[in-house]
Amino acid sequence: MAAGREGSQAPLEVPATDRGRDAALVGAMLDALPSPTLLIDADGTVLVANAAWVTAAELLDDERVRVDVGGNYFEMALRLADDATNHAMITAVQELARGERGTVSMDYALPHEAGVLWFHLQACRVGTAGHVVVTHTDVTARVVAERTSAWQARHDPLTGLPNRARLHELIGAELQRADRPAVAVLFLDVDGFKDVNDSLGHEAGDELLRELARRLTDGVRASDTVGRLGGDEFVVLSRECDTDGAEILAHRCQALFEQPFSLDGRSIRLAVSIGIAGLAAGERSCSRATELVRDADLAMYAAKAAGRNRIRVFTSDLRRAAQQKVLVAAELRDAIDAGQLVLHYQPVIHLPSGEVAGAEALVRWQHPERGLLGPGAFLTVAEQYELMDPLTRWVLREATRQSAEWLRMGLPLLTGVNVSATTLASGTLVGDVGDALAASGLPPELLIVELTETTVADDAQRAAAQFAALRVTGVEVSIDDFGSGFSSLGQLVNIPAGVLKIDRSLVAGAEERSQSAAAIAAVVALGRACGMRTLAEGVETEEQLALAAELGCTFAQGFHIARPMPGADVVRWVAARRSGTSRRPGAGAVPARPVADVVRQAV
Ligand code: C2E
Ligand code: MG
Ligand code: MG
Repeated sequence: MAAGREGSQAPLEVPATDRGRDAALVGAMLDALPSPTLLIDADGTVLVANAAWVTAAELLDDERVRVDVGGNYFEMALRLADDATNHAMITAVQELARGERGTVSMDYALPHEAGVLWFHLQACRVGTAGHVVVTHTDVTARVVAERTSAWQARHDPLTGLPNRARLHELIGAELQRADRPAVAVLFLDVDGFKDVNDSLGHEAGDELLRELARRLTDGVRASDTVGRLGGDEFVVLSRECDTDGAEILAHRCQALFEQPFSLDGRSIRLAVSIGIAGLAAGERSCSRATELVRDADLAMYAAKAAGRNRIRVFTSDLRRAAQQKVLVAAELRDAIDAGQLVLHYQPVIHLPSGEVAGAEALVRWQHPERGLLGPGAFLTVAEQYELMDPLTRWVLREATRQSAEWLRMGLPLLTGVNVSATTLASGTLVGDVGDALAASGLPPELLIVELTETTVADDAQRAAAQFAALRVTGVEVSIDDFGSGFSSLGQLVNIPAGVLKIDRSLVAGAEERSQSAAAIAAVVALGRACGMRTLAEGVETEEQLALAAELGCTFAQGFHIARPMPGADVVRWVAARRSGTSRRPGAGAVPARPVADVVRQAV
């Protein structure tokens, strides 16, 4: 109830002598008002009811609101609802009649068979006799709109589940409970949801999410709350539930995902990664909803990293690792500008001739305190913190600069640069490659862009388009780590790449396992059929090198040939190798030829 200014009305005096005429005048004035209006005395007795009131009462056709002149307004209100709101309204109107307060202003609900109607009640004192004018304005449309937008602000439009803001409110309220029992938050992320969306379309994806929301809501206890954070992320707030209970619940949720979904006549089963963060009864280690959800999110990430369909309970080491990542990201951002990144180059040899054909640029971070860090220590962070694009641009510029320098020294080396999924997705690759070539003056034929098999398969259409655009300019493209993923061959053979780099896992032990050798032979044959050359990665032994040559690979790269080395060492290494080429196994029966010839053949 909202009260206005105290006693601010000018009293309307009605002289006793003219009462009959003036009552008619007051009645006429009230009739002119569009809102249902009554003039009542301090006891609630109705003195005048205007035309709009009579019409509204007829329209509502509700006995409870039927009150005529001489009837009692307060009794009518209590007939509608004998509750605290109406008692407070009556008290306020009585205070107003006694001149103890200003206007009375409040919204109230009128439950009606057609639905709940909302009225705004405004009461003002008139005259000195304690009379009060009460107007009732229908504000149903406004209140419904306000309530709808308040609901929308707290709920997910697709599933109708509580959204992030509402979940945080509910979890926060649970955490604030004085005698709080154990509580758990489950963070669920559907495995491979993007694939469903991509293959079946967004409408099917939306339908799947709605069905998931229904299953989860039906599958948890009535005291639990299911919400959707967005995308394919759901949260379950499980009240009075310890971590053990939450794990049991998580397994139940997984079972709900595994039941087949029928979409577009197809049957689909889903897997889900679940992170759990819980607080024991009364435990105060985490006081904010956002912290508990974040911990469950971290646990979910750890579950996902361990493979599909896993459950992981949050432990504090996950938070430390996350904080460490934030730190590394901040340092890495500066490191790119501060020139702390360096490239090492791993030579690639052309197997038929034994000549050095090229070198793959591999990024390292010369960390001021931690020493030389390999890409494994910072590339994931770069991916997560949007540093991959600046990093790739730097690598492209530096690798092309180095390769152009080798060329000027008479050593044309096909230089490989690795490009990540995020750079492919950002759509800047072709432009960045062009900029690097222009700045360095390197002929495009000496640059090779490497993308891993999984990156290519994840977004085959985009990869195909960008590969085609690069190859038009003369830049070569290779598919890295081929054979490490489970991509469809059909998808990959349609990619316009020039080189297939056979993953180390196939090369390792190929000399002992006939299946690996057979797989390499198959990839070589596939490459030939598609006009691609093959490169054996991770060659660590003499036998592997000989086998790669025997199986028909065009190139080889690995620790047995050379480890990655600073750019300045490459020239010396090539010179040393050339002087000993004839004695080196794996050089093949073909006599050594000038590097330029090999490169020409290679591109
Ligand atoms: P990759 O592109 O497949 O590069 C080959 C990796 O295998 C390199 O590891 C190399 O040192 C290692 N390697 C080469 N020969 C052998 C061998 O005989 N045995 C074994 N065990 N390992 C061998 P590195 O430098 O740690 O790089 C790892 C991965 O990091 C690379 O795999 C590539 O995917 C990524 N990477 C490296 N530099 C960059 C970069 O500049 N940008 C991007 N986006 N990714 C990069
Ligand atoms: Mg590579
Ligand atoms: Mg590789």
